[in-house]
Amino acid sequence: MDIKALYIPDQKRILLDKSQPELKHRWNEAHEIGHSIIPWHEGAMLGDDEQTLIPSCHEKIENEANYAAARLLFLRGRFNEEAQSMAPGMDSLKSLKYTFGNTFTSTFWRCVEAWGENAPIIGLITGHPHPTLRKASFDPENPCRYFIQSDLFARRFARVSETSVFDQIVEYCKARARGPLGSSDVVLTDDNGDDHIFNFETFSFHHNILTLGLYVGPRKLIVAA
Ligand SMILES: [Zn+2]
Repeated sequence: MDIKALYIPDQKRILLDKSQPELKHRWNEAHEIGHSIIPWHEGAMLGDDEQTLIPSCHEKIENEANYAAARLLFLRGRFNEEAQSMAPGMDSLKSLKYTFGNTFTSTFWRCVEAWGENAPIIGLITGHPHPTLRKASFDPENPCRYFIQSDLFARRFARVSETSVFDQIVEYCKARARGPLGSSDVVLTDDNGDDHIFNFETFSFHHNILTLGLYVGPRKLIVAA
């Protein structure tokens, strides 16, 4: 079993795996607190064979604990309020990361959710897009660690694949290890076949490359009169 943290109900103790990066301890601890405060998780948490849950139930319980962790670490509605009062972009992401003290990736997820409440936007967490800086483990069929989509994007752009979006990022990204890798307008086609312009911005935070794709508007066709 791959256990990063464990909650022991009868002792009310949380054990954390020291080999995990320090910033992740915070998330793992909050996740275990989630298990400890959700009443119907009691008894479902023991790792022994007799109590092993069916996978779909286990996933549901894990999702609930992750939701609780996010509500705790991002102070319930407070994060959304602050994020939505700022202009969407990498500068706001960095400032929110330091204000709330969580990892770049967990902050990025919440940002895409907050900024994407009424707009089709996407966030990608990938390895380095530039061919000269890719790791040996890079898989062209599966280039994204996460392809985060706002509800509106998922509903209107269901046919856009993560590989096609990644190919567009490769087009403009610089061969630089850290910092801003570039930005560009990118055209994505919705499920009705209409083209829309998104503004993409990519930033390298050491191990993770984050790309934010914000909606600009429909691409206007220029018709000769
Ligand atoms: Zn768990």
